[in-house]
Amino acid sequence: MQTSSEDEKLILASVEQFLERDVVPHAMELEHNDTWPEEIVAKMSELGLFGSIIQTEYGGLGLSCSTYAKIVETVSRVWMSLSGIFNSHLIMSSCVQRYGTEEQKRKWLPKFASGEMRGGIALTEPNCGTDLQAIRTRATKDGDGYRINGTKTWISNGIYGHTFAVLTKTDPEADPRHRGITLFLVEKGDGFKHSRKLEKLGYKGIDSAELLFEDCYVPKENIIGGIEGQGFKQIMGGLELGRINVAARGVGVAQASLDEAVKYAQQRQTFGKPIAEHQAIQLNVADMVTRTEAARLLTYRAADSYDKGERCDMEAGMAKLFATEAALKNSMDSMRVHGGYGYSKEFPVERFYRDAPLLTIGEGTNELQRIIIARQLFARNPI
Ligand SMILES: Cc1cc2nc3c(=O)[nH]c(=O)nc-3n(C[C@H](O)[C@H](O)[C@H](O)COP(=O)(O)OP(=O)(O)OC[C@H]3O[C@@H](n4cnc5c(N)ncnc54)[C@H](O)[C@@H]3O)c2cc1C
Repeated sequence: MQTSSEDEKLILASVEQFLERDVVPHAMELEHNDTWPEEIVAKMSELGLFGSIIQTEYGGLGLSCSTYAKIVETVSRVWMSLSGIFNSHLIMSSCVQRYGTEEQKRKWLPKFASGEMRGGIALTEPNCGTDLQAIRTRATKDGDGYRINGTKTWISNGIYGHTFAVLTKTDPEADPRHRGITLFLVEKGDGFKHSRKLEKLGYKGIDSAELLFEDCYVPKENIIGGIEGQGFKQIMGGLELGRINVAARGVGVAQASLDEAVKYAQQRQTFGKPIAEHQAIQLNVADMVTRTEAARLLTYRAADSYDKGERCDMEAGMAKLFATEAALKNSMDSMRVHGGYGYSKEFPVERFYRDAPLLTIGEGTNELQRIIIARQLFARNPI
């Protein structure tokens, strides 16, 4: 999918307007109180963010991944948690869009696009996250459907979301293991509920929770694509988009950290001049801006490959790795520029510093990204 530059400009301008008017005045308080931002989510639905990359024929905005990445970057400059609310939802949606049957697309995508039905992806379990093929959640045949039993943890949108793409084992004996893995769309209801809210260092406002499945009946029509054993491949495809999104979040946080440092360095005086005139500060911000720009270029390049339909696991992995490490480093360096005030809750830098580490973990840890990058590097360069 491609978006014209005119359309991209318009959508980014409306996102900026929304952020300025509806988010900036409230973000600090909502974040510190860890409050789920109900009114902001309603506005995000009105703006169409929950359908950003869903094709127009299914009620979405039909934006390219490149434009979507710029939206995520823009939102994350203000409050990164908000991008999590629509990103996990869009990974679920993209699995239906890429791998679902026509009937599934017609049934689910319009509701996902409008935000009437929101959700996310339920992969991680108490015993495994990186090694997803070790999941224990079982889906066993029961008449014309399946019964799901198991526990998922750390699920974003777990409390306020309605529907989830749930990774299950349909054949625990399968060899290789991924052939026994199936992805279901499951709506909350009998046998499927969330348990406690999980407390976190940062990434506040968005709900992270455990999901419990107890003999939850799901009709076979809810298998994404309709065939058992395709789930691992499908979720890996969905995570390509997810990793580009996390990279874009990293660019947003890295940029926001830099912006605050540049502003503060020109306001704060020591030894009779603004600290911006001290060389130590200049070296620091020079590295920050270079890192941010490099992260942005890697992210846009991965998004462009995705839009062209090219294989982009390596590109998405490099963007995710570099941009999220850039966010982590910039948030710390911005805190240094701020001195003691960087540690204060009255400045946003402490929030960037608490938010950034998650980016190195979510959608596949950065250790895993390095493994994916190296494997692809060798696969693309055989001798
Ligand atoms: C705030 C938050 C939100 C999240 N949202 C979701 C969500 O919406 N849906 C969802 O399904 N999950 C979600 N997660 C879970 C997240 O995806 C996992 O935490 C992540 O994939 C890592 O899994 P793990 O925590 O089990 O760590 P482990 O897999 O136990 O890894 C522990 C450490 O070992 C390293 N490691 C593991 N295997 C290897 C290897 N082969 N080589 C080298 N190093 C290795 C890892 O990189 C890590 O450093 C979320 C997590 C958090 C904190």
